[in-house]
Amino acid sequence: MTESQIFDVVVVGAGPGGATAAANLAAEGLDVLLLERNRLPRDKPCGGGLSPKTYRLLDLDFDDLVLARPKRVTLQAPRYGPVTVESRTDSIWMIQRSAFDQRLVDHAIDKGAQLRTNIIVREVRAGDAAKLAEVETDGGYLRARAVIGADGSDSVVARSVGLRSHRDRHYILALEAETTRPANTPEEAAIIDFSLARGYSWFFPKGELCNVGVGTDDRRQFRQLRQHLARFVERHHLAFSQPLRVVGHKIPAWSRAEPLHRGNVVLVGDAAGVADPFFGEGIAYAVQTGRFAAAAVSQFCQGHWPDLTAYTISVQSVLARDLRFWSILSQVIYRAPSLSLRLLASNRLFQRLADQAISGDKSFSKTWKKR
Ligand SMILES: Cc1cc2nc3c(=O)[nH]c(=O)nc-3n(C[C@H](O)[C@H](O)[C@H](O)COP(=O)(O)OP(=O)(O)OC[C@H]3O[C@@H](n4cnc5c(N)ncnc54)[C@H](O)[C@@H]3O)c2cc1C
Repeated sequence: MTESQIFDVVVVGAGPGGATAAANLAAEGLDVLLLERNRLPRDKPCGGGLSPKTYRLLDLDFDDLVLARPKRVTLQAPRYGPVTVESRTDSIWMIQRSAFDQRLVDHAIDKGAQLRTNIIVREVRAGDAAKLAEVETDGGYLRARAVIGADGSDSVVARSVGLRSHRDRHYILALEAETTRPANTPEEAAIIDFSLARGYSWFFPKGELCNVGVGTDDRRQFRQLRQHLARFVERHHLAFSQPLRVVGHKIPAWSRAEPLHRGNVVLVGDAAGVADPFFGEGIAYAVQTGRFAAAAVSQFCQGHWPDLTAYTISVQSVLARDLRFWSILSQVIYRAPSLSLRLLASNRLFQRLADQAISGDKSFSKTWKKR
């Protein structure tokens, strides 16, 4: 890389947040560079479940990547269940992250973004409307009129510019394994088990494959997560034909409204800490913050807006109320999971409300509504 190349926008990280922002900015005619430290396609620890919130936001075709669309879910709590409920709204779509993320990156390239892989960003120095931001990578320096930090939960961009300094205080730790679906499991039903304190275990069918995992934000449980996963597998008689290859990662669950910009730098997705604090759903929020960031950065780069405050405001006014709802719900449900599931299973109104909240049909944020 030659020294000090100048771009309109450098996007750090080619996950759903970064790829979405890059696609939208390139579509506006901006000169966009998408940097990724891994070779693509890359895998990412993830259950691979897309709620309707996510796929309603995306304007690209990935039907061929959807491995299953389970509409039924078997619920279990410590002293209640199992009970199977059916969703009356759109189903959850199951994908594999390597293929799905690659499709989003391909879309960004089609729109005109440049991609460079195997480049590690080491440091970002924010500028402002009059001063370019500097991006230090292991291959040299770059400069840009704006930088989007989409580099996940351990964001170098956030650390460099002094945003989200509290990020290690609250997060969900989650483990997952993707493997062949056992013959004794249903093709069309997921399992969600709330036996673990302040978290849940899951089984997601994916055609011939499946994903099992566990996650909690209760630090006292972090060391025993593998044992929780093993107990979940045993409780639901999941007869895997080979040992599970378990991987894990943090999910930076939303905990409070905070600034997500500094000078000409903004954070999106996990870097911004906007995953839902109940399910740990993060892809929808990464895509949506990627869209908001692109809209704000485009205005800023064209000189219409003096700074990027509007980005933080759009996340706070549109998404934070929705995320606060999931945070309150998690306090209620995790305090009494058995009672909560009993109420849910016996009451059609609660089932409809749960369906509508998950799909985004009923939400504090209009952003998820069916278009
Ligand atoms: C076990 C587990 C299960 C999950 N299951 C689900 C689920 O089923 N559904 C759901 O919606 N969410 C799920 N999530 C959350 C979801 O995976 C994340 O919220 C989502 O990936 C966030 O997207 P992102 O684009 O912000 O970041 P990421 O997908 O993490 O992408 C960040 C990218 O930045 C790159 N990068 C990082 N640092 C640098 C650097 N210094 N220089 C260059 N590149 C860099 C990384 O290599 C990566 O490609 C799960 C998470 C975990 C851990």
